[in-house]
Amino acid sequence: MALLEVEGLRAGYGRGEVLHDVDLSVAAGETLVVLGANGAGKTTTLRALSGLIPAAGRLVLDGADLVGLGPTRTARLGVAHVPQGRGTFTDLTVEQNLRVGSYLRKDDAAADRDRWFEVFPRLRERRRQLAGALSGGEQQMLAIARALMMRPRLLLLDEPSLGLAPNTTRDLFATLADLRHDSDVALLIVEQNAQLALGIADHAVLLEVGAVVASGPAAAIAGDDSVRRAYLGY
Ligand code: ATP
Repeated sequence: MALLEVEGLRAGYGRGEVLHDVDLSVAAGETLVVLGANGAGKTTTLRALSGLIPAAGRLVLDGADLVGLGPTRTARLGVAHVPQGRGTFTDLTVEQNLRVGSYLRKDDAAADRDRWFEVFPRLRERRRQLAGALSGGEQQMLAIARALMMRPRLLLLDEPSLGLAPNTTRDLFATLADLRHDSDVALLIVEQNAQLALGIADHAVLLEVGAVVASGPAAAIAGDDSVRRAYLGY
């Protein structure tokens, strides 16, 4: 059984429906990449999954219905969302940002913090610096580490490569690929850099104007010439 099962997802803003019957699923510990042109509805999909906007349809995480829960209760069930633009607290240090990430937990989070410092060594080196003084790539890693401090079962990442230099982006994706060895968190990644994202994903979903136009194993999507030419631009 999938960790996340989504069937007939509909969501939008006010009366404007953006997503029309989107189906997708993510198995425990796997990586799903959601691709599509600007305005296809990728960000809207993540917002609907994390309870930031109302959604209709079947949305089930490990047997629990997510519809109507809102962001806090959805987060408590194990869904963490790293929005576009990262959103670290720039006036707090790296360590303080990580502490914010564990606010939903009652236990001592220091062991987890040390674990993520192993995965993101640059954050350990800069643990007492203000987040606002970090590079773009470091801030992205901090945003991801902070989300992982919640011990999510599903991590939603919106355009993690946005604004990053190509080398930094490659490092980040290598770290994301390693994450699956270090934890059993499932990743749902929205990404413009289709080639890089498909390289670390198990499955892919291609959205066009709010509907799924292709889905399947990442290697099959990456190897489908017509899909690649029509939608992926490489
Ligand atoms: P991008 O790659 O440009 O971020 P996207 O695939 O993430 O694109 P969405 O941000 O989900 O696309 O937007 C899908 C549609 O929803 C667009 O037509 C957009 O104009 C509309 N939309 C997005 N946010 C809002 C909002 N807050 N209020 C109203 N409409 C919105």
